[in-house]
Amino acid sequence: MLYRKYRPKTFSEITGQQHVVKTLQGALLGGRVGHAYLFSGPRGTGKTTLARILAKSVNCEKYSIAGKSEKERVLGRIPCNVCASCSSMDKGTSLDLIEIDAASQTGVDDIRQLTDSVRTAAVGGRFKVFVIDEVHMLSKSAFNALLKTLEEPPSHAIFILATTEPNKILATVLSRVQRFDFKKLTENEILSKLKKIAETENIKIEDIGLRAIAKASDGALRDGEVLLSKLIAINGDENNISAQSVHDALGLIPYHYYPDFLSKLAASNGPEAISVLHTLNDSGFDLENFAKEFLEYARKVLITKVNPVLASAIHGNDDQIMAHSSNIDGQELINIINIFSHARAGMRHSPIPILPLELAVLDAVGK
Ligand SMILES: [Zn+2]
Repeated sequence: MLYRKYRPKTFSEITGQQHVVKTLQGALLGGRVGHAYLFSGPRGTGKTTLARILAKSVNCEKYSIAGKSEKERVLGRIPCNVCASCSSMDKGTSLDLIEIDAASQTGVDDIRQLTDSVRTAAVGGRFKVFVIDEVHMLSKSAFNALLKTLEEPPSHAIFILATTEPNKILATVLSRVQRFDFKKLTENEILSKLKKIAETENIKIEDIGLRAIAKASDGALRDGEVLLSKLIAINGDENNISAQSVHDALGLIPYHYYPDFLSKLAASNGPEAISVLHTLNDSGFDLENFAKEFLEYARKVLITKVNPVLASAIHGNDDQIMAHSSNIDGQELINIINIFSHARAGMRHSPIPILPLELAVLDAVGK
């Protein structure tokens, strides 16, 4: 699986979450590492990855402060990834990195076992790091047992609690941890990581396809990496992955329909615009989703028109969006967006879902 192969091993490889990375590295450099952290945020955003890197950093036998790259030098202390401690942590065999999945080990006995182990010193002589994933799943008695340990942790222990649901964590626990909120990754952050992976794997994949994967991942880098793995597997020995095959695999409407549809509206070609709708409908695509994605496309054209500086950030200078933004009149575009926003809202209550879109076409082309 790509997400295991390309799991970051050091701070500089982390995608996004720079607010967390910087604070943690500052603490490492200043020797101010805390004894209890809460990593909270959506799944697939790097919580356990960062927990492992922190565990390696505090235990590394020959960590360096001057990194290879400028970024690493600025950020400071980095694990070497080759010493006995680092490599055993990477392999998952270290006795000083204890990972618990609270979703499956919810009981008080599991936590007792853990709190017993907290008392004994680290094998490597430095820190024993306990990572408790999905900590909100612990039973109440398990939480209470954990709380006792968090109240007076031995100096060699570091707790990293990870959760996707911080609202379920007891206030008494929250008051004893330093909290970091992980954010969903942006489409562009996921895209750039996937691009690097594809390049390293020697896979050629169309930009539109890669962007579709990034978008479908909804902020979770791991999901994007899993999707890319699946696509590579589906394509067999083929090292070329077309946008079409990505769209097919994800069940998405092929991207070209959006610029096509907008071109037909801009050319006041009502019959052809309506026939696009019929083609999609007959192919079994969800028209509500089409309307939403079309609005997103038109919005990108509009934003590019209003402020070209944003073009690379919101769509990576997509050729068709760039062309549309210079060809279509701004007022006409605003008109189209208004008409289709209204139509999309009406689809849910329409006895015939396609009807509001057909009417919108006629309205937009002025017939
Ligand atoms: Zn090391």
